[in-house]
Amino acid sequence: MTAARHGVPWFRFFSGALETLLPLPCPLCGKGVPFDGTPNMFCGECMKRMPMIRGKVCRTCGAEIDGIFESCSECMNHPKPPWTRAYALFRYTDEVLDCIHLFKYQGRTELARPLGRLAAGLADAESLRYDCIVPVPLHWRRFLKRGYNQSALFARQLGGHLGIPVRGLLRRVRHTKQQAFLTKNERNSNIAGAFSISDSTVAEMCSILLVDDVMTTGATLREAAGVLLENGAERVDVLVIARRQRN
Ligand SMILES: [Zn+2]
Ligand SMILES: [Zn+2]
Repeated sequence: MTAARHGVPWFRFFSGALETLLPLPCPLCGKGVPFDGTPNMFCGECMKRMPMIRGKVCRTCGAEIDGIFESCSECMNHPKPPWTRAYALFRYTDEVLDCIHLFKYQGRTELARPLGRLAAGLADAESLRYDCIVPVPLHWRRFLKRGYNQSALFARQLGGHLGIPVRGLLRRVRHTKQQAFLTKNERNSNIAGAFSISDSTVAEMCSILLVDDVMTTGATLREAAGVLLENGAERVDVLVIARRQRN
């Protein structure tokens, strides 16, 4: 009666009420209900299989560590990266990798929502504040083939929750082989000179959160962060969905 009186069609009223009673299923498995009761969120079972990183982390790459050191053994054996701090959302389990593959290669762009919201929770917990968020760009050829840039979709969701603008400050000026199939040395030379700045005035004096899906050797992120800093960025931090360690 109330709905009809205010001019809301009865079916809209009914479907709204139904949505409250029956929350949308988990966007990953399509079965469970959201673990926190909010729409477009993973279910408890999926969250158990994709454990988020908590506790002490490596300042350089965001991976979980124990012991007295500030960095993981892999980071200690590599030159210091250009960014100040790195954050990773999930441990690198097979299930996390499967989720990232669906998001990145299988067109499951709706996964940007729960991933972005969980990353915003991490940023809030760490009180992270930036002038802008910059996604690692794809070369236009890869973008046309895939139809979307997963890092940009993730960045947009994250920025929306945090109220921080997302800026496409980097351009991929060179088409490179996919890093996943290369050795560490090949990755470094493959990615060298791959990025350029699209607007140096925006980068100047800005603190920037650079986001990507996975960090493995960090070669792509080093190159991208380096370009932002060379163009006047005051500080660059890095956030990835997962950090892949190779021990
Ligand atoms: Zn699920
Ligand atoms: Zn590390």
